[in-house]
Amino acid sequence: MPTHRLPMTRRTFLNTTAAGAALTMVHPFSAHAAAGQAHLRIMETTDLHVHVYPYDYYSDREIDTVGLARTAAHVADIRAEATNSLLVDNGDFLQGNPMGDYIAYERGMKEGDMHPIITAMNSLGFDASTLGNHEFNYGLDFLMKSLAGASFPVVSANVAKTLGADPTGDTTLVPPYVILERSLTDGAGETHPIRIGLIGFVPPQIMNWDRRHLEGNVSARDILETAQAYVPQMREDGADIIIALSHSGIGSAEATEGMENASVPLAAIDGIDALMTGHSHLVFPSPTYEGFAAVDAATGTIHGKPATMGGFWGSHLGVIDLMLEREGGAWRVAGQSVETRPISRREEDRSITALVESDSAILDAVAEDHAETLAYVRRAVGKTDAPLHSYFALVADDPSVQIVSIAQKWYVEQMLAGTEHAGLPILSAAAPFKAGGRGGPEYYTDVPAGDVAIKNVADLYLYPNTVRAVRVTGAELRDWLERSVGIFNQVEPGGTDQVLLNPEFPSYNFDVIDGVTYEVDLSQPSKFTPKGELANAEAQRIVNLTYNGEAVTDEMEFVIATNNYRASGGGDFPGAKGDTIILEAPDTNRDVIVRYIVEQGTIDPKADANWRFAPLPGTTVLFDTGPAAEKYIDDVKGVEIEPAGEGPDGFARFRIGL
Ligand code: MN
Ligand code: MG
Repeated sequence: MPTHRLPMTRRTFLNTTAAGAALTMVHPFSAHAAAGQAHLRIMETTDLHVHVYPYDYYSDREIDTVGLARTAAHVADIRAEATNSLLVDNGDFLQGNPMGDYIAYERGMKEGDMHPIITAMNSLGFDASTLGNHEFNYGLDFLMKSLAGASFPVVSANVAKTLGADPTGDTTLVPPYVILERSLTDGAGETHPIRIGLIGFVPPQIMNWDRRHLEGNVSARDILETAQAYVPQMREDGADIIIALSHSGIGSAEATEGMENASVPLAAIDGIDALMTGHSHLVFPSPTYEGFAAVDAATGTIHGKPATMGGFWGSHLGVIDLMLEREGGAWRVAGQSVETRPISRREEDRSITALVESDSAILDAVAEDHAETLAYVRRAVGKTDAPLHSYFALVADDPSVQIVSIAQKWYVEQMLAGTEHAGLPILSAAAPFKAGGRGGPEYYTDVPAGDVAIKNVADLYLYPNTVRAVRVTGAELRDWLERSVGIFNQVEPGGTDQVLLNPEFPSYNFDVIDGVTYEVDLSQPSKFTPKGELANAEAQRIVNLTYNGEAVTDEMEFVIATNNYRASGGGDFPGAKGDTIILEAPDTNRDVIVRYIVEQGTIDPKADANWRFAPLPGTTVLFDTGPAAEKYIDDVKGVEIEPAGEGPDGFARFRIGL
């Protein structure tokens, strides 16, 4: 078992961070430690996803909400405050932003290469880490070459190269646990040895999520089964205290076989003294977890044991303070407190205030990788045969929505392969995000045919949503579409120049569903209000809804690829209220689009005109879009469009013949 040393010296330098005054309090624990008592601070980062710089590579600008270089400022403060401290990472460090993609897709990892997130973590002096599910996204070879550069142990107990009769008989991919031999300085200034056991866990769902990399190479065990087997062995190996690095969320208190978010039943296991959690990209303690069984969301305990979750992308540092007491040569936990320290604050006007400054040593350590990543996001990673624009996204099937749908469907198909849902038709729902409105007449996606850069993908998909798939009936599919087309005003057949769009209806709730064909009868009233309440139960705007040339019946079943916002009830869509989810994928829609473009090389996002307005002879409507739309007018299929002068506020007006 590798052990690792880190100086646990008292540091007394002055705090120079922006919010320094607020942060340089001496923690009461250190002050109160008596002879034979020692204060140990355990710090956690989790779900860093390659975020070292405070930078959003998609939008190519600095931001104050992310980056290990910022979290590092809290680490420095805490090391200065605490007599004894430990810094651990809870996994998902290797993938999840363009820097990670750059290394995986472009620069590669050869024997001896350093991965920038490992370089940054080495520089900050981590004591240990565990594997998150995203560590497997680029394959085992890439993972092991990346880990080779780590100057800290990486542990994971439930991923095995070969399975034994029970977990302790497995040959694990990386060491299941580590016991760090350290010395603690007590309240009287005397040092005592301590053996700190750290054991890691990852959701066994990796076997589905990264099937193509893992099947036949490794197996994943149930987290709780694994913990029950190893914890007693760690005690036998001499661990004085045991900390679980649980890359798993805080969820149900009820243990179920293979559960993804197992941190609550994990905390109940005898012998585990404290838990570092993650995977959910949330903060613990926080009101988010109020009402969870066995969880104290205010003080930060699960089954009475201290636990933390440090947000994601470096947003927070999780901190567990333990007061350890020496009794007959053994250490026991005599007291505890838990907090998280954010790197930024959202003000009431929604602006962001940075609470710390970047640690320049961390920035310097990966400055070259950062510069290379900037060059990467600014240059072509693929090609598009058709222009990607959203000028007509609200009035016709459109390439900017089409590419999102294509990539989501491609991804969900892979994810559902081999599951009970595999045989069902897979549809894909996507809505235009950049479609004028309050964003103004330039607020559209407009990428000409030719090169596509990573920056352009941010333009196609503005939000860091994650992919979901839901399973719905034909009736729910129809109502989902009825809800979407509430964006249109009712029009009078034969009337001219009527206003088409209801400005109260946001474009992100206008889902186009790909994989079926349908028409929208604008002579009908909308079945739902812009907020999604039932308005006209009998109204039916969606007509000629077909799948594979056959009319969709109420009883048919479909899978719809979408995002976490929609699937869990965002916009209040029929069939998407949280109870129809069959896949909670670990990847963001944006990452899936990048992966699709990189893997395909050239994409062809031409809209397939799977939806259109039902003919209403002699009827015209008006709508406003960006003036740059005019150059694409001839490409729009399934609708007759002509310029109709100027709209308000710099918009251009167009006329549609129905
Ligand atoms: Mn994560
Ligand atoms: Mg389409």
